[in-house]
Amino acid sequence: MLHNGAMSQPFRFRIPEHGTLVKEPFEPADPPPGWTRLAVKAMALNYLDLWTTRGIEGVKLPLPLTPGCDGAGIVEAVGPGTALPPGVEAGGSAMIAPGLSCGLCAECLRGDDMRCAAYGVMGHVLDGTAATHVLVPAANLLPVPPNWDFLQAAAFPLVFLTAWEMLVHKAKLQPGERVLVWGGGSGVGTAALQLVRFLGGRSIAVVSSLEKAMKCWELGAEHVIDRSREDVAKKVRELTGKRGVDIVFEHSGAASWDASLASLARGGRLVTCGATTGHDAKLNLRVLFAKQLSLLGSYMGRREHLWTLLGHVQRNPSNPPFRPVIDRVFPLSEYPAAQDHLAAGQAFGRVVCEA
Ligand SMILES: [Zn+2]
Repeated sequence: MLHNGAMSQPFRFRIPEHGTLVKEPFEPADPPPGWTRLAVKAMALNYLDLWTTRGIEGVKLPLPLTPGCDGAGIVEAVGPGTALPPGVEAGGSAMIAPGLSCGLCAECLRGDDMRCAAYGVMGHVLDGTAATHVLVPAANLLPVPPNWDFLQAAAFPLVFLTAWEMLVHKAKLQPGERVLVWGGGSGVGTAALQLVRFLGGRSIAVVSSLEKAMKCWELGAEHVIDRSREDVAKKVRELTGKRGVDIVFEHSGAASWDASLASLARGGRLVTCGATTGHDAKLNLRVLFAKQLSLLGSYMGRREHLWTLLGHVQRNPSNPPFRPVIDRVFPLSEYPAAQDHLAAGQAFGRVVCEA
C-alpha cells in the first residue's frame, strides 16, 4: 500500500528517446529482495544527466529511462528479507551511492566495484532519481550525516566520490603539492578544491568570472585564474616560478587539454574524469616522455570510499572539513529547467531539485 488519502500523485521524468524529456505519473514498484524504495526528497544534477538525456555517440542506453544519479530521501519500503547498511533504517533517511555493480566478480570482491564489467550509474543504466520514488539496492544506501538536510545529502555522493578517487587514489596527492583545478565552480571542482585543502595540498582554481573567483578562495583555493582574461598555462608558470603544477585536475576536455599539459611540472600527473568541451585531443609524445608525465583516467570511485568520506564528515558534522556547495534549488517538477540551468554553465556548485 503506497498511498493513504490525499498524497500527491507520484511522478517521474522519462527519456522515451534521446533529446526528449517528459513528466509522467507512475505507480512505484515494490522493491524485490535486496532492494529498497526511497521516497525522493532531493536529487542533484550532474553532467551525466545531460549526456543521458541527449544521448552519447556510440553508447546504447536502456530507453525509456528516468535520469538522475544523486538523491536522498526516506526509506519507505524494504524488499523481503533485506538487511540495511549500518545507520540506515526503514522509515529513516538515506542518501544514495550512485554506482551499481554485480557484487560477484573479482573486481567487485576486491572492492574495485567501478571496474566491474557490469558497472553502471543510477539514472544511466537503471531508472534514477528524477522521480518522486526510486528503487535502490540496499547496499547503495548510506546514512545522512547528522544536521545535514536532504539537499546537502543529495549533493554529496557523486562529486565527492569522483574527486576523492582522482586526487587520492589516481593522482596520489601528497601534502604540499600543487593542483590546478579546472572548472573551480563546477560541482566536482568545488569538491576538489575542498579536498585539496583537506589533504594538505595547494590549489589553483580556473574559473570564468570574478564572482566565481571569490567563491573559490572561500573553498580554499590558494590562487584563482580567470580564463576569460588570462592565459592559464602562462599564469600557472608565473605562479609556480616557472615550475608548473604537480597535478592537473581535468574534466573539461578538448578546450583545456593543451593548457593542462603545458601547466604540468616534470613528473606531473594529469587526472581526468570528463570531457564536457569535447573528447578529441592531441598529444605530443615527446612532451609526454621528456617531461615524464602521467595521464590518468578516472570514473566514479569505490563505494567503500563514500563511507570513508562520510566518516570524515561525521567526526564533526556541524563543521565538516568539506561539504557540498549548492548553487540553486528547483522544485522536482521543474527538473528540465534545472537541466537547462546546469547546461548554461553559470552555476557555482550543485544544481539540486527538491521533491
Ligand atoms: Zn562485478
